[in-house]
Amino acid sequence: MSRLWSPFVQRLVPYTPGEQPKGKSFVKLNTNENPYGPSPLALEAIRNAADDRLRLYPDPTALELVTAIADTLNMAADHVFVGNGSDEVLAHAFSGFFRERGVVLFPDATYSFYPTYCQLYQLPFRPIPLDGDFRIDPEDYRGPCGGIVIANPNAPTGIALDLDEIADILRRNPDVLVLVDEAYVDFGAQSALSLVPEYDNLLVVQTFSKSRSLAGLRVGFAVGQPHLIEALRRIKDSFNSYPLDRLAVAGAVTAWRDEIWFDRTRRLVIADREWTDQALRELGFQVLPSTANFLLASHHGIRGRTLLEELRAEGILVRHFDAERTRDWLRISVGTSQECRTLLGAISSIVSRCAI
Ligand SMILES: *Cc1c(COP(=O)(O)O)cnc(C)c1O
Repeated sequence: MSRLWSPFVQRLVPYTPGEQPKGKSFVKLNTNENPYGPSPLALEAIRNAADDRLRLYPDPTALELVTAIADTLNMAADHVFVGNGSDEVLAHAFSGFFRERGVVLFPDATYSFYPTYCQLYQLPFRPIPLDGDFRIDPEDYRGPCGGIVIANPNAPTGIALDLDEIADILRRNPDVLVLVDEAYVDFGAQSALSLVPEYDNLLVVQTFSKSRSLAGLRVGFAVGQPHLIEALRRIKDSFNSYPLDRLAVAGAVTAWRDEIWFDRTRRLVIADREWTDQALRELGFQVLPSTANFLLASHHGIRGRTLLEELRAEGILVRHFDAERTRDWLRISVGTSQECRTLLGAISSIVSRCAI
C-alpha cells in the first residue's frame, strides 16, 4: 500500500497466476502449458522476423494473422480479432459488451480471471453453481442479465458442453453477448465456431497458448460477426493500438499453418490424458471426464492441500484452488508421457503412505 494509490487500486484483488518456479527444476503440471513445445517452423519464423524491421511499429490490425485464421475458417477477415493473449481479448470483450449492461453470469467454478475482470471494470456478476456432477446446466443461464461467459471445456473441471447446449444458451439470451472461451477446445471438445454465422450474439475466443504451445508468445483471438469484432477494435484502439508485435505475428501465422505439428502434439496430449485418467482411477481417485489438457482429480483419503504439498516435495507442481467446491481436488496438467509416469509413481507412493 502507498498513500499514492487510488482507493480503487487499494481495493483491487488481482488474479494469481500459477507458479513459474525459478532455479530448481520441477515437473511442471500446474499451468496447463503444452509439454511438446511450439512448431519448429514457427520458431524459425520468429528468428527470421528478428531483424532491422523491429524498429518499425507492427501492423496495428495484424492483418496477416487475421487473414490466415479467417481463411481456414472460411470467413471474411472482418470476423476475426487478435490480441495479446486471449486474456487481453477477454478483457476487451468484458469491457466492450458488459459495461452498463447488467449482471454478468458465469459458472461458480470457472476461470478465475472472469471475476477479476468484473472487478476491474466494476461489473456486477453472479456466479451460477455447477450441478452435483460439476456440470453446467444450460437452463440456469437465462435473462435478465448483462452477458454470459462460458469456458468450454470449463476450467478447472475439463467438462465440456456439446454444441446443442451452447446453442440453447444462445437462443435463451438473444439480446446479450454469450462469450464462449475455447482455450482448451482443441483437446477434444466441439467448437462453437460453426455457430457464428447463425448467432449474432456469439463471440468465440481461442488462444495459441495451449494447443499451439505458444503461451510465451501471447497470442489469442476472437471470432464473431463483424459488428462484434468492430466493438473489440474500438476498445483495442482506445487502449493499445499494437498489441501484437512483429515476432508474435510471424510465429503465430506459421504455427497456425503448421497443422501437422498441431495435430501430432494434441493427439499425444489426448492419449496421455486418457491413460493417466484411468491410472488415477485405479489408485482410488475420482476424476472428472476431461476434454482438456488437464484432469481434475480427488482422493477420498487425502486432503487436496496435503497431496499438493507431498507432490511438491517430490518435485512435481500441480494446481490447487482453495474454494469450497474444489478444496479436495487437484488440477493436473497433462505433461509428456514420461512426466505422466513420474506423476503416477509419486502419487502411488503418497497414497500408500498418507491415505486414511
Ligand atoms: C489459459 C486460459 C486462457 C488464457 O490464455 P492466454 O491466451 O494465454 O491469455 C483463457 N481462458 C482460459 C479458460 C484459460 O485456461
